[in-house]
Amino acid sequence: MPGSNDSLAAKDVRFQLHSYTDARAHEEKGPLIIERGEGVFVIDEHGRRYLEAMSGLWSVALGFSEQRLVDAACRQLQALPFYHTFGHKSHAPSIALAERLIELAPVPMSKVYFTNSGSEANDVLIKLIWYRNNAIGQPKRKKIISRLGAYHGVTALSASLTGLPSVHKGFDLPLPGFLHVGNPHFYRHGRPGENEEQFVERLAAELQALILSEGPETIAAFVAEPLMGAGGVIVPPPSYWQRIEQVCRRHDVLIVADEVICGFGRTGRRFGCETFGITPDAMILSKQLSSSYQPIAAVLINEQLYSAVADQSHALGVLGTGFTGSGHPVASAVALANINIIEQDRLIEHAALMGQRLHAGLQRLASSPLVGQVRGCGLIAGVELVIDKPTKAPLGTLGQLGKYFTERAQHNGLIVRGIGDSIALCPPLIISADEIDLLLERFQRTLDETLDWARKQQGFACTA
Ligand code: PMP
Repeated sequence: MPGSNDSLAAKDVRFQLHSYTDARAHEEKGPLIIERGEGVFVIDEHGRRYLEAMSGLWSVALGFSEQRLVDAACRQLQALPFYHTFGHKSHAPSIALAERLIELAPVPMSKVYFTNSGSEANDVLIKLIWYRNNAIGQPKRKKIISRLGAYHGVTALSASLTGLPSVHKGFDLPLPGFLHVGNPHFYRHGRPGENEEQFVERLAAELQALILSEGPETIAAFVAEPLMGAGGVIVPPPSYWQRIEQVCRRHDVLIVADEVICGFGRTGRRFGCETFGITPDAMILSKQLSSSYQPIAAVLINEQLYSAVADQSHALGVLGTGFTGSGHPVASAVALANINIIEQDRLIEHAALMGQRLHAGLQRLASSPLVGQVRGCGLIAGVELVIDKPTKAPLGTLGQLGKYFTERAQHNGLIVRGIGDSIALCPPLIISADEIDLLLERFQRTLDETLDWARKQQGFACTA
């Protein structure tokens, strides 16, 4: 067999095309191959341990070795490994999970629709909103507003919601009818002399102006993460959501909270909507829903949305959408066990407490000449690196500092994510106080090494 004697890395390069990777660079560099996990640590094929400060992809709430989730999956695989939810069929795990999600929702929700991923969940929700607007006699109301820098997924519709050039370039996206407004990153986008409240007023005015110029009767929904994750861990100023909601309500624009990262305790409350005081019409859940031990996501819709969708499906004879894996019994059983563990082990309170320790530690690093801003809330944080604090200038082109830091951190046994020059941290909810201290120690070492490196680069005049 070709390649059978090659190393795993060589086979990976030979056979696999990777997400979010420069394919040609990968041929040179190869992968880091993770073999197993223990709590907040992952261990590579050579036995090196890394503190996984990103919970994989913002998702492994319970860490990488939770036996109770493995047991839940095994029990369900033995009882019923697969069944579907099409055409009036159902099964106990998806029913129990749907009931639990409705019970936990921060505002009254009516129904749950399951998908395999957050991208699909956003995709389906856009379709349901279009379907509903056709049903209620508002067929022109189809445009969707999201924000620059937002992440909502990669299917054609959810990638159109996403506000990142790298997700659009080369794919002829976004599709027509997807509009983007500015995001609430005050540190970057606040104007000289503007305070946070004035900044928020400017963003609310921008949203209002866009709705009016497009025609309110054409705008279906505003989709946003309560706290932006993959766009750089952007925490909205306190009055932001209240003002945005007022504008949306004024024009009958539905509000969708994409809680894929924020949900299940990440921000120190159960949902980001609670942390930021949002009352959405629909919510998207995934990632920490199952700690990503199984792929699953959920769309929650309120009664107003559901009843129009239900009537339309009745009129047309069927709701013509569905995935083979919608509400998969094993994924549902794992998600239900995962949520119960988060609740029983009081991991949301724990995350809030550990978050305070993390943020206090990061604030101590803010005196480094490289740290422009430390931000975050609960167990999610962003540290934005700059070489000149007054001008917030990057070293060379944006992303160079972030790339160097991320690679050094990995060398130092710490997995973080560089988003431009912002370093994201999002450790598992189970992280202990000692592990937070270890994370901070490795972060500090990496920061010092990055500073030494940056000083050696041409033209870096360090202004502390
Ligand atoms: N929404 C948000 C807020 C996300 O962070 C992500 C994934 N990072 C998605 C949607 C898409 O989820 P998936 O990767 O499961 O398609």
